[in-house]
Amino acid sequence: MLKFADDSGFHREVKRRVLEYFQRTGLSQRDSPRMYLKTAVLVLWFGLSYALLVFAATTFWQGALLSFSLSLAMAGIGFGIQHDANHGAYSSHGAINRLMGTTLDMLGASSYLWRFKHNVSHHTYTNLGADDDINLGPFGRLSPAQPRRRFHRLQQFYIWALYGLLIPHWHFVYDFKNVARGQIAQNRFPRPRGLHLVELIAGKAVFFGWAFVVPALFHPWWVVLLYYAGTSFVLSLVLSVVFQLAHCVEEADFPEPRPGTSRLPNAWAVHQVETTIDFARGSRVLTWYLGGLNFQIEHHLFPRICHVHYPRVADIVQAVCAEFGVRYTAHEKLFGAFSSHWRWLGRMGRPPAAERRELEG
Ligand SMILES: [Zn+2]
Repeated sequence: MLKFADDSGFHREVKRRVLEYFQRTGLSQRDSPRMYLKTAVLVLWFGLSYALLVFAATTFWQGALLSFSLSLAMAGIGFGIQHDANHGAYSSHGAINRLMGTTLDMLGASSYLWRFKHNVSHHTYTNLGADDDINLGPFGRLSPAQPRRRFHRLQQFYIWALYGLLIPHWHFVYDFKNVARGQIAQNRFPRPRGLHLVELIAGKAVFFGWAFVVPALFHPWWVVLLYYAGTSFVLSLVLSVVFQLAHCVEEADFPEPRPGTSRLPNAWAVHQVETTIDFARGSRVLTWYLGGLNFQIEHHLFPRICHVHYPRVADIVQAVCAEFGVRYTAHEKLFGAFSSHWRWLGRMGRPPAAERRELEG
């Protein structure tokens, strides 16, 4: 079991200052009216795109456009509703979080499993071996600790196809395989029972119903499969790229335990800040759509605060980081983050000598 170093006071201070902000302004950390409005907009966007795609579109191009819109609406629900809800950051009422969290089940992925994958595996062990978010198996190399293979030299070019398979893999393999193994990456989790099991099965049934059964009543099966493939490819690509921009970029840290021990060099909170990068913080459109995934440093420090508050929280976090000498990095533009991810893919794919020269230079 990996162990973080002791906190030097940074975590205590940043928590104190953020709490003080909420006390001073009288704002509530959760249950923001903006969040309920955003939920309504995203669900409406999703419902409208789906209904028009299945019941109204008559030409290929109408279908393609609506399928694209459906993918973006689904990604928006993933970023902006289920992520907060499954963290317990949407509402202070557990029942509302559970209800909003099931939007992920409606999209075809089990929220029960996601909570273990994301809240434990990814949020505790960010950018370490136990972080399932940077695990593409042997097909891609996203961190220096992962074994290198010759074909990784080409990953800059082919990895997008792998990213595009994320959601079909999730729909048909990932959840089923993990329930059978009782394990995600290196972390064991209790298999779902009782209500959780009902939720998982009902979620899958509802998803397969709206995604395949209902459309197949109105269209030939190959048309349904074609649009499923297109929609899930775009959705997968958007989700994967947004995840990677916050962690798999040149500026992010990929620490390893001290040789011969399981002790990590930094305390947990410092580790979270230095393994994570913010981007496009000035863009109101992206901040609305990505649900604060572009304020990922703030999210990693305060996963139970609703993302609508992150832009203000970021000022406080950045100030405390400067005081404690913690490296805080933000890409100003989406493109800057994207090109850094591109260069990181290249660096991780090249032979060891070339990579060493780059790291030293
Ligand atoms: Zn999260």
